[in-house]
Amino acid sequence: MALTTIAWNMQSWLDVAPDSGFSIHNLPFGVFETRDRGLRAGIAIGDYIVDLAVLAERRLLSVPTDAPCNEGDLQRALNQPVLNDFIALGKPVTSAVRLRVQELLAASSHAAQAPDLWTHALVRQRDAEMRMPLRVPNYTDFYSSLHHAMNVGAMFRDPKNPLLPNWRHLPVAYHGRASSIVVSGTPIRRPCGQIKREADAAPIFGPTRALDFELEVAFAIGKASQLGRPITTSEAEDYIFGLVLFNDWSARDIQKWEYQPLGPFLGKNFGSTISPWIVTLEALEPFRVPTPSQEPKPLPYLRFAGDTSFDVHLEVDITTPNGATMTVCRSNFKHMYWNMCQQLAHHTVNGCNVEVGDLMASGTLSGPTPESYGSMLELTWNGRNPICLPDGSTRTFIEDGDTVTLRGWAERDGVRVGFGEARTTILPAWCTEA
Ligand code: CA
Repeated sequence: MALTTIAWNMQSWLDVAPDSGFSIHNLPFGVFETRDRGLRAGIAIGDYIVDLAVLAERRLLSVPTDAPCNEGDLQRALNQPVLNDFIALGKPVTSAVRLRVQELLAASSHAAQAPDLWTHALVRQRDAEMRMPLRVPNYTDFYSSLHHAMNVGAMFRDPKNPLLPNWRHLPVAYHGRASSIVVSGTPIRRPCGQIKREADAAPIFGPTRALDFELEVAFAIGKASQLGRPITTSEAEDYIFGLVLFNDWSARDIQKWEYQPLGPFLGKNFGSTISPWIVTLEALEPFRVPTPSQEPKPLPYLRFAGDTSFDVHLEVDITTPNGATMTVCRSNFKHMYWNMCQQLAHHTVNGCNVEVGDLMASGTLSGPTPESYGSMLELTWNGRNPICLPDGSTRTFIEDGDTVTLRGWAERDGVRVGFGEARTTILPAWCTEA
């Protein structure tokens, strides 16, 4: 479903650095505020934010004539503290807004000649605070990277037979906690919980000693579905508004003791970090790639047509409290075994409904090579091979004061579409070991 035709040579009259992920081809949506502007919707371009509330106020945005809403609805939706109402207006409206902004920013646009407009409609990103772009009603975390599932299975079960019997038949997932999803820049406190250090010892209460990141990408639901009515793989993309980077923070020692028989709980729900800009599916259109081959052939409801995976380069940096930084992981979203259409079809095949703003995360996106492993658990092989950082310190897991930054971008023929970053600094635990 291509809503846009890519004009590869399109440039903006605004100065956008060639390595900026926020090119005129991207134009992702976010929510920002400044000292004198309340929370509102914006679109990123280069080092700037286009204030969509200002464009709507000046009647520079319009809704398609056949849309079930009017310009007043659009104006109100762009002046909200989250994007849910805007997204709920539907793709014909949100796509029209994005394309209109692209038109206004294009080098060929007469809008460049309206300095008074842009004094009001452009905000420097450094002068703005990015906020949580969505109210997230529900959050689901998949487990869809074959390499991650194999690594974890090899570490904790059987290196010769690492996958559980269901893994190649369905996209495994659990229902996560939506309330603790935070936007990039929000610190997260090291969690405390029950930990069983030795097999034959009693559990103790204390701060996790195995705090880990998980490199993931999440898609945001753009259209509600009806309870009782499954979404098919061919309909799925109509329900996907866009994508963000997602760090599923994990406390491995808490997780290890609590997870049987019902799965992740307090080892996961203390915090997840997303990037502030939602990159639309339309912007990712030029970066479609085939999904890796699936064996055995999935059941009919999980079959799909076309290229429904996306080539998005992903990286993770660790920065120590004294400022030493190292990229510890380089991976790609295209490695995901089960694609987003299959995830959504599986999620709803029993009649479960989705809501606007729901986030569905991919699961840790490990690639085939050791430098592409998407968690410390895998990078250090459960702590056996510590990572040496440039300041001489070592890490098996994440320490207090460390900052973990996820980055992602797609690039082809000089066109770059970036996600920005999802950055989190870890604060010390409130408890001590009892
Ligand atoms: Ca996860």
